[in-house]
Amino acid sequence: MIDFEIPEETKAVREKVRKFVQENCIPAEDQLEERGVAPVIAELREKARAEGLWCPFIPEEWGGMGLKPLANALVQMELGESMLGALSLNTQGPDDATMLTLLEHGTDFQKEKFLKPLLAGEKRICYSMTEKAAGADATGMQTSAVEDGDNYVLNGEKWFSSSASVADIAVVMAKTDPEAARHRRFSTFIVELPNPGYKIVRNIPTMHPENEIREQLGGTHSEIHINNLVVPKENLLGGRGNGFAMGQHRLAYGRLRHGMHNVAMAQRALDLAAKHVTQRETFGQRLADRQGVQWMLADCASELYMARLVLLHIAYKAERGMDLRQENSIAKVFLAHMVHKVVDTALQLHGALGYSQDTPLARWYTSIRSQRLVDGPDEVHRWRVGRNVIKAYEQFGTTAPAAGGDLL
Ligand SMILES: Cc1cc2nc3c(=O)[nH]c(=O)nc-3n(C[C@H](O)[C@H](O)[C@H](O)COP(=O)(O)OP(=O)(O)OC[C@H]3O[C@@H](n4cnc5c(N)ncnc54)[C@H](O)[C@@H]3O)c2cc1C
Repeated sequence: MIDFEIPEETKAVREKVRKFVQENCIPAEDQLEERGVAPVIAELREKARAEGLWCPFIPEEWGGMGLKPLANALVQMELGESMLGALSLNTQGPDDATMLTLLEHGTDFQKEKFLKPLLAGEKRICYSMTEKAAGADATGMQTSAVEDGDNYVLNGEKWFSSSASVADIAVVMAKTDPEAARHRRFSTFIVELPNPGYKIVRNIPTMHPENEIREQLGGTHSEIHINNLVVPKENLLGGRGNGFAMGQHRLAYGRLRHGMHNVAMAQRALDLAAKHVTQRETFGQRLADRQGVQWMLADCASELYMARLVLLHIAYKAERGMDLRQENSIAKVFLAHMVHKVVDTALQLHGALGYSQDTPLARWYTSIRSQRLVDGPDEVHRWRVGRNVIKAYEQFGTTAPAAGGDLL
C-alpha cells in the first residue's frame, strides 16, 4: 500500500520548524542591515537550539536531530522559505553535504578536529572541486597533489567555491594519480583556512547582485589560486583515489537540498502572488478574478504539487536504501525549472513591483538561475537520464523502470 500519511512526530517537528521560520527567520531578514549579520544569526541559532532545532539530518549522537530523509525533506521545505532558515539550524549549503562526507568518510582524528566544530556551528566549510578548466566533467581537473614526506603539496586553481570567503575549512579535490583510471585519479584534502597556499583571488561577480550582507551569509563564490599548498597526510579524506566517488555522494544530497529549498521558495513566491492579485485591481476588476491570472496560479500550483511528490518519493526510496540516482537527476532538473517558472510568474503578476527590489522576487529570480547549472547542469543530468531510458528499454523491453515505473 502506498501510504502518504505523515507520522505524527514528523508533522510535529515540521510544524515547529514552520513556526520558527515564520516567526523568527523571516522577520529577522529585515534586521540584517541595521543589526549586522553575526548578531542576528547568533540570536537565531540560540533560539533554534533552545527549541531542539539543530542540524536536522545529523544523527543525535553527533548533536543533530537525527531526522530520516522524509522528515528532513519536510523540514528543509520549510527552512527554504527564509534565507536565514537553514543557517539558523546550521544546515546551510555547502556545509551540510560536506558534514555528511566527513561523517561517513572521516577518520576519528578528522571527525574530532574538523567535524565537531562544524556541527557545533563554530566553523564553516567550503567545497573546492570546480576549476576554470573543468566543471560538468570534473575528471578534467588539473590541480595536482604530490606527496612530500608527511605532506601533500597542491598546485592549481579553483573557481566558484561557494562560501570560501567565510569558510574556516576547505575541502579541496586534486589529482594524486594521473595514470589511474579516470575516476580514480583524484583525492580529497581537508585544508585549514586561512592558508597562504589557498589564496582567494576574488569573489566572482555574478548576475545576482552581491552585497556585504550576502557575503557575510556565505552567498558568494570565490576564485582561488592554489600555490604550494601544504596539506598533512592525516588530512587526506576518504582514502587516496576516492575523491571523485565521494564528491558524487556529497553532491547527491546537495542536489536534493537545493530542490527542497526550491519548493519552499516557490511556495513563498506563490503566496506573494496570491496576496498581490487579491489586492490589486486593473480595469475595474481584481487580478484574482481574471481567468488568465487563475490559469497562471494554477500552473504554479501544479508545478509545486509535482515537486513535492517527486521529493516525497525520493525520500521514500532513500529511507529504504534504494537506488535513487535516476530519480535524483530527474528531480534536480525538474525542481530547478519549477522554481524558475513559479518565481517568474509571481514576478510577472507583481508588474514593475516585481522587478523592483521592494519584494524578494527580483533577488530570487537572479539567484535561482544558478539552479540549472550547479551540481551538474541540466544537459548532463538529462544525458544520464536518457541513457537509462535506452538501457531500460534494451534490458526489459519497456522504458518504465527509468520513468518512475516502480511507483506502480
Ligand atoms: C552559483 C554557483 C555555485 C557553485 N558552487 C560550487 C562549489 O561550491 N564548489 C564547486 O566545486 N563548484 C561550484 N559550482 C560550479 C558548478 O558545479 C559548475 O558550474 C557546474 O558543474 C558546471 O560546470 P561549468 O560551469 O564548468 O560548465 P561546463 O562544464 O563548461 O559546461 C558548460 C555547459 O555545457 C553544456 N554541457 C556540458 N556537458 C554537456 C554534455 N555532456 N552534454 C550536453 N551539454 C553539456 C551545459 O549546458 C553546461 O551548462 C558552482 C556554480 C554556480 C553557478
